[in-house]
Amino acid sequence: KTIFNNIEELPGDALFAIKQRLAEDSRTFKVDLGIGAYRDESGKPWVLPAVRKAESLIHADPSFNHEYLGIAGLPALTSGAAKVILGEDSPALAEKRVVSSQSLSGTGALHIAAKFINKFLPGRPVYVSDPTWANHVSIFESQGVKTVTYPYWDAATKTLNLDGFIKAIESSPRGSIFLLHACAHNPTGLDPSEAQWEEILDACVKNDIIPLFDSAYQGFASGSLAKDAFAVRLGVKLFAETAPIFICQSFAKNVGMYGERCGCIHLIVPKQDSSVNVTAITKALGSQISKITRSEVSNPPAYGAKIVAKVLNDAELTQQWHQDMITMSQRITKMRRTLSDKLVALKTPGNWDHIVNQCGMFSYTGLTKEMVQRLEKEHGVYMVASGRASIAGLNDQNVDHVANAINEVVR
Ligand code: PMP
Repeated sequence: KTIFNNIEELPGDALFAIKQRLAEDSRTFKVDLGIGAYRDESGKPWVLPAVRKAESLIHADPSFNHEYLGIAGLPALTSGAAKVILGEDSPALAEKRVVSSQSLSGTGALHIAAKFINKFLPGRPVYVSDPTWANHVSIFESQGVKTVTYPYWDAATKTLNLDGFIKAIESSPRGSIFLLHACAHNPTGLDPSEAQWEEILDACVKNDIIPLFDSAYQGFASGSLAKDAFAVRLGVKLFAETAPIFICQSFAKNVGMYGERCGCIHLIVPKQDSSVNVTAITKALGSQISKITRSEVSNPPAYGAKIVAKVLNDAELTQQWHQDMITMSQRITKMRRTLSDKLVALKTPGNWDHIVNQCGMFSYTGLTKEMVQRLEKEHGVYMVASGRASIAGLNDQNVDHVANAINEVVR
């Protein structure tokens, strides 16, 4: 009877707690800069025009049904997704060195990677940036994979600690796994420049690192899929002769599929000697990933996969999608500029250039926990305690309020 009585209650998830407090806040003017979900200029969730069209085509198709997908997911999705991240002309694809499997969005892809690492690379820790998306640590540790942090954000200068990052690569045990944010780093919004990526990835190759790219925001940082895949594609090229690569890909943000849980895991194997049968290797890897998926979700969700596959395989819809990513990334870039300009105009103490220089959904504002608390209590402006603000929550109607509120709490 008492067997469950002593189980400890854990604190709620910090991000979802913000959502709860917002819902309970009776003030009429509130600003949600918490969760990383795109909002349009009126603060509303946005169904991408490409998605609306894809959905109407899917529903108009008399053969549409709700049958199960295969264990590895919808082939039209996984093959299209591999081209999105690797590029249409990727040598790795031409050489059939890529294994792709559908997952429960980016989180599910990371979870499969964690299980795979625990089974086939046991004892190797995963290095994560300091700071990183909090769930990274939970996902790997839940599968018995240890995480270690590498220096990333230099709080004093609000820039990348490149030296610290490279030194961590050089001093990690050979064969360590480094989790790299492909673009639009969460939570800082600070990405390495292309030249810095070359240094980072060169150091990874020299030190026998296995890279694990987390690509949750491709197209969100710059509006361009190719630009935002720079690091991944460079990594795939540099590692072609040496080590495998993991890629965890989410369509939550760039297709707006948040709740539909659509993503993929891709494993890229390096080129082999002519005596080695690459097809046999990729088949074996695919079978192992399928075993993981089968025991956990049986088969991945179909609806979001059908939408994304339609977008990726219909030239007109693909073009519309590219436009939609430009719409989202440009609006965010504009709000960064507006917020920073307003803070400068208010002569708010400090330098606010980082808001403009950062990219993607988030800005690590540098506001302290106490300032964030005051923003919420006194001004109805909600963001994560670390000072991370989701810039997508800003719009022309609320940016003045937010700038004034920040101005007040930093003084
Ligand atoms: N990685 C990072 C860095 C993220 O920010 C997110 C979303 N917050 C994800 C992965 C995965 O998100 P999802 O499971 O919704 O695709």
